[in-house]
Amino acid sequence: MNIHSFIDIGRWQGKAFFGGWRATEGGLLDVADPATDAVLASIGLAGPADVAAAAAEARVAQPAWAAKLPAERAAILNKAADLLERNAEELIGWIMRESGSIQPKAGIEIEHGAGFLRHAAAAAIEPHGLMLPSMDAGRRNFARRVPHGVVGVISPFNFPLVLSVRAIAAALATGNVVVHKPDPRTPISGGIIIARIFEEAGLPDGVLHVLPGGAAAGEAMCADPNIAMISFTGSAAGGSKVGEIAGRHLKKVQLELGGKNALIILDDADVAVAASNAAWGAFLHQGQICMSTGLVLAHESIVGEIATQLAAKAAHLPAGDPSTGKVALGPIISDAQVGKIQAIVDEAVEKGAQLLAGGKPNGRFYPATVLAGVRPGMRAFEEEIFGPVACVASFASDDEAVGLANLSDPGLAAGRISASVGRAQAVGDRLMVGHLHINDQTVNGGPYAPFGGRGRSGNGSRVSGPAIWEEFTQWVWVSIKDQATPYPF
Ligand code: NAD
Repeated sequence: MNIHSFIDIGRWQGKAFFGGWRATEGGLLDVADPATDAVLASIGLAGPADVAAAAAEARVAQPAWAAKLPAERAAILNKAADLLERNAEELIGWIMRESGSIQPKAGIEIEHGAGFLRHAAAAAIEPHGLMLPSMDAGRRNFARRVPHGVVGVISPFNFPLVLSVRAIAAALATGNVVVHKPDPRTPISGGIIIARIFEEAGLPDGVLHVLPGGAAAGEAMCADPNIAMISFTGSAAGGSKVGEIAGRHLKKVQLELGGKNALIILDDADVAVAASNAAWGAFLHQGQICMSTGLVLAHESIVGEIATQLAAKAAHLPAGDPSTGKVALGPIISDAQVGKIQAIVDEAVEKGAQLLAGGKPNGRFYPATVLAGVRPGMRAFEEEIFGPVACVASFASDDEAVGLANLSDPGLAAGRISASVGRAQAVGDRLMVGHLHINDQTVNGGPYAPFGGRGRSGNGSRVSGPAIWEEFTQWVWVSIKDQATPYPF
């Protein structure tokens, strides 16, 4: 990599970003391309002592950042968005190599990352208080939103840039400072790039700390007395551990977890369009998206045709190294995850599901796979797979479709395809999910939406859109009497 590039590897090789670029107590971690195993760079791996140092520095920096004019905070966020876009070509290359993304998916990360930054910049200058009715004469009564202080952000590997930026931007916009821990498999896209854009955008020292690390660093954040809130995006297992530790330390915690998302195709749907929606929702980024279509529920009159068309599409989606520019699916993030996908597919076939396409990996490349006849009692019906597997099941009535879709908890997103919007809406109203998309598949997101799920998809919190002020600040009630008056004693 050219050292005059924007990302400037010479600046951060072997380091993390906390009080500038520094070596960590956790030592060095090689970051590898999951498609080729080529080492891309080496970064500083954070341990608990690094977290403690960063959190202490962050707490000192917070009051000055909160005291900045909202427009000053907004200007820095907007500049960071400009820098992401201006350096898109270079940054897309890093995202592709580090996270196994095809070019269009990496492009979406830049586009949405800039969108989250700009939306947060706009939120910074929104009104953030309420005049309240007075309880007695001569008293003014109002409430204003204030930042929590230091927000700890923990993010996953799959959309590393976007899922880090959406929480970091919201926290900074509202006057918090941030200690951020990207997944150690994607510390460049999920951390180093973000540190670099904010460094160049003029963010004051100490306001953002980026510490790539594993569960030990994350758990240290949850227990750290200087961190007031944890914004976590990841698995239900990780989220419940985070919630447990943060709860013990009385921190606010926002949990954005997994999904087993149903696409319900009613009998009046256009079959070809519905199959295309199912393929996009199930196979995009190898199915490694929290909103991936985990269950294709099709009416019994069209389920056979849907499955056949999905299988034909799957057979024409090559999997391989995204840097060749010739594949639709890149690698799965790890060998362990390939093993998990295979175990779920094998179990479904053993229990009677039909394998219509794919089903056998080539190293870390898992082909687009179609399982038909998937039923409750199979892991493929009940669990989030996080792999490119379309699980097709059938229903006989709208009531049965609702019942089957609601069998799976977590409830993050759902889609319905139907010629009748009213009918699709009536089905959707009965689904226990956080996002409902009528005449679209389940993978949808963006800066304007209050993103989050129900049940085991989280803890009822939302990130982004109108949820920014709700989640990243708290109320302070202020009452002012014109003058102090005496009490009876
Ligand atoms: P994961 O929970 O293993 O890891 C996510 C992050 O949490 C990483 O940074 C990891 O280092 C950290 N972590 C893990 N254990 C921790 C602990 N005990 N304490 C503190 N931090 C800890 O998740 P994963 O399997 O790598 O990611 C995929 C999961 O994330 C899927 O379930 C997916 O659905 C979910 N996800 C959810 C959303 C959403 O917005 N709802 C978005 C993307 C991914």
